[in-house]
Amino acid sequence: MHCPFCQHNDTRVIDSRVSEDGATIRRRRECEACGERFSTLETVELKLPSIIKSDGRREQFDAKKLRQGFDRALQKRAVPEEQVEAAVRAVVHAVRMSGERELASRRIGEFVMDELRKLDHVAYVRFASVYRSFQDVADFREEIEKLERGLPSSEQLPLLEAAALASGQARAGERAKKR
Ligand SMILES: [Zn+2]
Repeated sequence: MHCPFCQHNDTRVIDSRVSEDGATIRRRRECEACGERFSTLETVELKLPSIIKSDGRREQFDAKKLRQGFDRALQKRAVPEEQVEAAVRAVVHAVRMSGERELASRRIGEFVMDELRKLDHVAYVRFASVYRSFQDVADFREEIEKLERGLPSSEQLPLLEAAALASGQARAGERAKKR
């Protein structure tokens, strides 16, 4: 690294310290030519892609918003905090591993659905019904029936309730009961 004082093209590291959170390394350097000392900070550069929203606008990927999405879907569901955190991390990882510079928000929705499906079926249905905005009631029923086939019967009831509660889909539940 160049010396910022005399522009000499080599400096020597005389001390390295990792920050408390482990996210940065501070290095103390000394210029071999003029003897001036200065510090540099080293941080990991991991760029997350920008998100293309359904209306075409772009925004920075925001892990906080992602967490809020999980919280909304998991409201009043007994899912341990560590599992939610792990699921959020898994989505961030998937986003990162996509290697894209821009990613459609729909793709992220799919990553979230993959995680919610493993975490809690009720939350999955809640999220999917809003996110995917099922084309019609038949699509929605089909999705629930697919889930129910893989579930013990004790878990099927809350699933139907979630389906009925899911935003904009209350009618689907009503119609299903009449059948
Ligand atoms: Zn110098």
